[in-house]
Amino acid sequence: MSKVTIKDVDFSGKKAIIRVDFNVPLDKESNVTDDARIKAAVPTIKYVLEKGAAKVILMSHLGRPKGKVVPGLRMDPVAKRLAALLGEGVEKTDDCVGDRVKERIETTARRVVLLENLRFHPQEETGDPHFSGELASLADVYVNDAFGTAHRAHASTTIIAKSLPSSIGFLMEKEVNCLSSAVSADKPYVIILGGAKVSDKIGVITNLMQKADKFIIGGAMAYTFLKSKGEAVGSSRVEEDKIELAKKILEDAESKGVKIFLPIDHLVVDNIDNPKTKDVVETIPQGFMGVDVGPRSIQLFKEQLKDARTVLWNGPLGIFEKDSYAQGTREIAFYLASLSGVTVIVGGGDSAAAAKKFGVASKLTHVSTGGGASLEFLEGKELPGIAVIPDK
Ligand code: ADP
Ligand code: MG
Repeated sequence: MSKVTIKDVDFSGKKAIIRVDFNVPLDKESNVTDDARIKAAVPTIKYVLEKGAAKVILMSHLGRPKGKVVPGLRMDPVAKRLAALLGEGVEKTDDCVGDRVKERIETTARRVVLLENLRFHPQEETGDPHFSGELASLADVYVNDAFGTAHRAHASTTIIAKSLPSSIGFLMEKEVNCLSSAVSADKPYVIILGGAKVSDKIGVITNLMQKADKFIIGGAMAYTFLKSKGEAVGSSRVEEDKIELAKKILEDAESKGVKIFLPIDHLVVDNIDNPKTKDVVETIPQGFMGVDVGPRSIQLFKEQLKDARTVLWNGPLGIFEKDSYAQGTREIAFYLASLSGVTVIVGGGDSAAAAKKFGVASKLTHVSTGGGASLEFLEGKELPGIAVIPDK
């Protein structure tokens, strides 16, 4: 599958409307506290301008205004930051559709326009075709460069592409290429799974079972698997209704010759927030819960990663948000960063946050910007925002 990209489009003299992901964190005074997403969109914006576009009209959502105007979620601070990054003025409109917006686009001397928060209108998230038609009427061509919302059939991410010539931007292209290399990967292929729930990751497991050589499983989801093997898990987080499924996955893997490695020791506490007792154990006692994988598990996991050519990492190995439970996630993150000549792909919002927190993101092949979108991609689902873009 190879989609039309901005490199295939003639922008000269055209108005291009680009769906970007400017959903950035803001502080209480509505200052942008992390501009990584704005920075990430700059290459696409600059490219389209260099190719002679008459206007670049940018649109995004910001936060969760739930279909109403929320003054604290206006795009003005984003426009300010973007102008600084581009080194040119950015015209920010007070709404994202309507005659006044159209008029501003026509009359402004500036080349770059940023529309107001799309989610001030409930029609954005319902994928209303009239609303997407209004957005489309502002421009001649459409570009989608917002991977994080590509799994949603919203007006600006999907429906609009039905009424304008459409392509994907550089960010989206990189996500699709990199995540595709985690779906059809060079072997040996090792998948590290962790995080909160087995149920969140079933799709990834079943889609990639035929492709992977090994799975390493940590995080809370490991306890559902361990329990399905009859091991003591104390009061660790377990999905009781997924124990049978976990058992089936283990059997399935065995019959396919896919190895699954579960933790062999654990950091356990009696209470997550105020632990009176903290210990490393091989067998979890009653009343204790696993909050991180133990040192012997970390060793075992590193051993299994040593010869990999491709690694997909999705899900932290422990409650990494707390420093005292972060060792497993941190050590594996460092180990992945130290591997050379290995394709390492990170999917999932919390895993990406962990890679950033431990300062290894830039040393890995690709850290997906799309939490839910990356998981759906890895499950083998066709994301509506990508599916709607024509093939080359
Ligand atoms: P991702 O967003 O990367 O797909 P998930 O959302 O599945 O990851 O899981 C992340 C969450 O899992 C984190 O908030 C982390 O604290 C939690 N977690 C990891 N290990 C454990 C554990 N042993 N017990 C409870 N929660 C855990
Ligand atoms: Mg998550």
